[in-house]
This record gives sequence, structure tokens and C-alpha cells, in this order.
Amino acid sequence: MRPAPYLEPTNLRGRINRPQPKGLPVINVGFNELPYPPLASVLQAIETAAKQGQSYGSPHCDALRDALALRNGIDAEQIVCGNGSEELLDVVARCFARTGDEILISQYGYIQFELTTKRVGATLVKAPEVAFTSSVGALLAAVTPKTRVVFLANPNNPTGTLIPVSELHRLADGLPRHVILVLDLAYGEFAVEGYCADVHRLVDAHENVIITRTFSKAYGLAGLRAGWCHASAWMIPILYAARGMGTVNALAQAAATAVLAEQKQVDARVATIISERTRIAGALGQLGLKVVPSHANFLMARIRDASPQTTEKLVEHLFDQEGFIVNRTREQGLEPFFRFSLHLPENNDRLVDCIRSFQDARQEDR
Ligand SMILES: *Cc1c(COP(=O)(O)O)cnc(C)c1O
Repeated sequence: MRPAPYLEPTNLRGRINRPQPKGLPVINVGFNELPYPPLASVLQAIETAAKQGQSYGSPHCDALRDALALRNGIDAEQIVCGNGSEELLDVVARCFARTGDEILISQYGYIQFELTTKRVGATLVKAPEVAFTSSVGALLAAVTPKTRVVFLANPNNPTGTLIPVSELHRLADGLPRHVILVLDLAYGEFAVEGYCADVHRLVDAHENVIITRTFSKAYGLAGLRAGWCHASAWMIPILYAARGMGTVNALAQAAATAVLAEQKQVDARVATIISERTRIAGALGQLGLKVVPSHANFLMARIRDASPQTTEKLVEHLFDQEGFIVNRTREQGLEPFFRFSLHLPENNDRLVDCIRSFQDARQEDR
């Protein structure tokens, strides 16, 4: 007999875990990362911070919060930074939900929302979607007196879909005052221009709204681990009570602060990814795939008549032929889909060609 854990063991996803058979470089397009390395000024800032590594630095990320406040036109006192925004999702759940409480998400909501719910022992409730898109009507209809937190990502992962800011207002207006609404903008920079700025305005009007942002996606610093949230002033000391003291390490703070000074370069990279998104969605459409319209830096697609087994074979083919690791979406209802982040144009072309060769081989088998 062993000590009994409160949590189920993590089911380590069956990612491809073998050498690339042709010895090609492996390109992981399964994590929604940016394909560009950090800018020189960011590397410089990391080096400078590393030389002061004997110091705890700033537990409350003072310089980073000031830079974020300036960039986003909000109050630095209404910002909390985290070890990635993933940590902040956990922090919110720890603050507001326990066993017996309900956490509400959308049908194909981000997997971390589900994991966070389990960690605090709360009950997960899912509201149905329409055309792989969150439905405010369905979310509001699913609220009960036990609902404590609603987590909603726009654009969403894994679907890439988003709902307009007007719908987010309708959701915030319609929720009872005892419910926290977390609006996760991890991919907001890839949505229509001004989307993030407009969503932040919801915090001014609603004391129960929290916006989460990250440096992992558009800012290309996934490995450094920096995220932040924007919330009403009353909530900030409560959020800190649930966050570890030194979770945002000094190198992450320095890198994130430095990249904010490179907005032009960041915008240019984001613009390239957005134009690749349009181009590659078109190319896959030409091949006859179903591509869910994406507002993020990735696409979710399927071969039209594919069973989950066919998709499994496609995923293997992409790895064996060209070294691509794509994401298998295993969520119920998304089994025949796969998801990949847009990469450099030449690699996106290789991916499309490789999907074409898979389809050609399938035709010949018939
Ligand atoms: C990637 C992602 C995040 C960000 O995670 P970090 O911990 O900031 O790296 C948050 N939400 C969604 C929906 C994501 O896909």
C-alpha cells in the first residue's frame, strides 16, 4: 500500500519520441511557439541579469510591470506577473475555487483550464460550442450558483477561433457578480489589430474580470517563462497570496522587459506569421483539407474523410519524411484533427508538400 495522492497521475502525451529516421533536424510545430530566436538586445539583457544572479532581484517584477503598464496604457499596480501565464491560471483557481465549486470553460477550451480545475479539486463544467467557437449564450446558460470561475481563451487553443469583443462584453455583463471571468489572451497579438487593447478595457468596467497575457507566443520567449495578468486593484494582493514569492526568475524578467522595447521587430514577426497563416490555410484548402479559420499562430486542420487512425498515420508521416512534430488533438470531438504552428515560409511549404505526398500515397493504396 502506498500513500494516496489527491491527483491522478499525469498521462504523458504520446508525442513522437524516437530519432528522426533520415537524420533530419526535428522541427517541433506542436507547441505554438514562434520560429525565431530571441533578438540580440534580449540576449544581452539576459546576460546582464545573469551576472547579478546572486540576487533575488525583484519578487514583484517592478521594472517589468512598469514597462507593461507603459506599453498597454494600464496601471502597474493592477498587474501581476507569473512564471508563464500558466502559473497565473493556477493562481486564480487557487484563490477562488475549491472542492464543490464549479469552473466553467468552453467545450474545446484550453487543456490547462481542465488541469488547473483538477489541481484545486473543483468540478469542471463545459459549455457547448458552435462551429468550434465559444458560445456566450451557452456559457451563460451553464452558470450555476456553484460557478466560481469562467476560463475563456480568445483566440482559443487548440481551435484558433475567437469571439468578438462585443460578445466578451455580453458575457461579462451577463455573469453574476460572484463569478470570476478570466480572459486568456495568449494569442491576442495574432488577432485583429487592437483586439488586446479592447479586451483590457473590460477590467475598467468589471471588478471580476482578469486578463492573462504571455511572452511565450508573439514575443517568442516560451523557454524563459514570463506571463502577466491585469485585474482590478482589490484582487492584486489576493493573487499574490496564491503565487510563490520568486516564481518569475530574474532572467525571465530581464528578457521580457527587453523585448517590450523591441515592439517594431515583434510586430514584424507577428505580421509574417499572420500572412503565412492565410497562405497556408489556403494551400491546405486547395489540397481538400478542412481548416478551421484561425486567429492565432497555428492552424487546426483535418483531411476531410480522415479517421483518427488516418490522422495518426499522417502525424507519423510528417515526422518520418520531414522531421515535423505536429500536435495530435485528442480532445473528444477533435480526434481527427491535427494542429501545427506556422513556421518560416520555407518550412511551411515543406509541411504542405509532405501532407500532399501523404494524400497521394493514400490515393494509390485505394
Ligand atoms: C500557450 C498558452 C498559454 C501560455 O502559456 P505560458 O505559461 O504563458 O507559456 C496560455 N493560454 C493558452 C490558451 C495557451 O495556448
